[in-house]
Amino acid sequence: MGETCLSVSETLADIAARRPALKPVLEAFRPLLETRAALTADVREDVAALTLPPFSLERASQGVPLMAGLSLRGLAAPLRTAAQRLLPLLCALEPPALHRNALEALFLQEGTASEQLVEALISGNSPDFQRLASEAGIPPEVLSFALEFIAAPAMRALAARALPAEGDAPWNGAAVWTQGYCPVCGSLPVIATLDKSVFDEKNAFLAGGGGKKRLHCGLCATSWTFRRSTCPACGKQGNEVMEILRESEGANGERLDWCVHCKTYCPTVDLREREAVPDMDAMALGMLHLDMVASRRGLHPLRPSFWNMF
Ligand SMILES: [Zn+2]
Ligand SMILES: [Zn+2]
Repeated sequence: MGETCLSVSETLADIAARRPALKPVLEAFRPLLETRAALTADVREDVAALTLPPFSLERASQGVPLMAGLSLRGLAAPLRTAAQRLLPLLCALEPPALHRNALEALFLQEGTASEQLVEALISGNSPDFQRLASEAGIPPEVLSFALEFIAAPAMRALAARALPAEGDAPWNGAAVWTQGYCPVCGSLPVIATLDKSVFDEKNAFLAGGGGKKRLHCGLCATSWTFRRSTCPACGKQGNEVMEILRESEGANGERLDWCVHCKTYCPTVDLREREAVPDMDAMALGMLHLDMVASRRGLHPLRPSFWNMF
C-alpha cells in the first residue's frame, strides 16, 4: 500500500551497515538468497500446469493447509531449474559439498524423487522423507537444508496463485485460520511482523495504530494474521503467555517474541519502528544475533533456520 519493500540485497546492505559484525555471515548467504528470490519469477510459467484446490472455509477452520494432500507431479521441471542454479551455490558450503554427487543425481536427473520429497515435506511425512533421504544416500539434515532452498521458488510461485487479485487473502478473515503454521503449505513461520500504522486519506475513521501481527512462511512466502497474545508453537493464549526479548538500544523494531510456557520463540520485527519493509528471508537471517541470545537463555526457535542447522 504505497510502502517501500526492500529487496534481498537492499535488506542485507541495510543490516550490514547497522551490524558490521554480521557481515561475513550475510555475505556467505547472499548469493543463495538473491538467486532464490530471482528464481520465483523464473519458474512461474513452469508451475502453471498445477492446480491448487479452491480455498475452503471448512478445511481452514479444521486447520488443514491448502496444499495438504496435493499431488505435486509436474513440479519436477521447476525443481530442476532451481537446482541447476542453487546447487552450485549450496555446494559452496561444506556439508552440502560433501554430498554434491548425490544431490545432483537426485535433483538434476529425470525422475519423481524430487516431487515425492516436496510432498513429504509439505505433508510433514517424516518417515517418507527419511526413506527418500536414505535411498538418495544423503543425511536428512543436509537434504532438508538443500530441499528448502530448491523447493522454495516453485512453492512461492504456486502459493502466489492462491492470493486474490485484490484485497486480503481468504485465510485472514476473522477467526478463519488460527494456526501457528502456514495456511498454504503447513510450514512453521521463520519470522513475524507487526504492521505499520495505517492512514487512510479518504476516511480518517479507518486510520489505525497498526501493530497487527503477521507470521511469514519461509517456504512458500505466505503471510497470515495471528493473535498477539497466543503462542504460535503451543497454542497457549492469554495476556501473560508471550514475552518480548529485545536490545535496550538500537533495536530498530527487532525482537524475539517468546512463550513462557514452551520456551519457543519467533523473531519479530515491529514495522512501526522502521521506514521501509525489509525482505523477510534476509531479515530473518539478519536477526541471528538475537538467536544467539535466545540460545544462551535456553529458548528454542519455532523453526530452526538454515544458518544454524549445521
Ligand atoms: Zn507456506
Ligand atoms: Zn508456547
